[in-house]
Amino acid sequence: MVASARAPLAIVSAMHQELRALLPSLQHARSVECAGRRFHLGELHGHPVVLVLSGIGKVAAATTATLLIHAFEARALVFTGVAGGLREGVNVGDVVVARQLLQHDMDASPLFPRFEVPLSGRSHFDADTGLADALAAAAQRCLDGSEALLGAATVHGFRLEQARLHGGLIVSGDRFVSSATQSGELHALLPDALAVEMEGAAVAQVCAEFGKPFAVLRCISDRADDTAHVDFTRFIEVVASAYTAAIVNDWLQRTA
Ligand code: SAH
Repeated sequence: MVASARAPLAIVSAMHQELRALLPSLQHARSVECAGRRFHLGELHGHPVVLVLSGIGKVAAATTATLLIHAFEARALVFTGVAGGLREGVNVGDVVVARQLLQHDMDASPLFPRFEVPLSGRSHFDADTGLADALAAAAQRCLDGSEALLGAATVHGFRLEQARLHGGLIVSGDRFVSSATQSGELHALLPDALAVEMEGAAVAQVCAEFGKPFAVLRCISDRADDTAHVDFTRFIEVVASAYTAAIVNDWLQRTA
């Protein structure tokens, strides 16, 4: 256990570009290695935080969340990353703040209803309303100021002029959804799902088990279709990591 006067907020990044965008602002930084992960402890805008890269997929995310809560005594978790847009109107450059999460690849039917986590009696896990509201407000401010943040050339180059904020269901599974057939199937099964990614619902389940508040913030990097891989890396480098850092910084600056 890491003893601390004030329990830290955990900010978990799916990809190293996002973590790299936050690290320069970390004050009094020190790091601890555990289970192949480097946990960066310090302060962001006066808040004790622990920043870490989760790794990709549900197991990596669940391991990270468990360590953050149990070994680093995190009082709340915020997960940031990119996701594929599923519902119509959820486009590249949009930001989605999860209100609920579900594991789309959980299927113990006919023993349990499809998507239900066996023996938990539930398929949907709720994000913390206060955290999600605060992140959504920060995300809206960053979207409104996207030209100042990214530069006009990037905004126009990635066609981000119409980028919007969404709130609702995000679904997670151990699969990079990269064909119109796969995303069409998911959309037909789960018409409310705004976006698909690979970690959020695992973090949600762990946080529910420990009774810790959490939120998931995703920047849409692709439409989970046959073009999902195109420009993925460049989008993360140029757009998603800048948005994530700006949203997290804006949120923490305004949080008492
Ligand atoms: N090519 C990347 C690997 C990305 S894996 C690399 O080289 O590092 C996909 C990551 O983006 C996961 O963190 C996942 O949560 C998210 N993601 C983005 N689009 C997705 C999609 N269409 N389907 C599933 N996950 C997606």
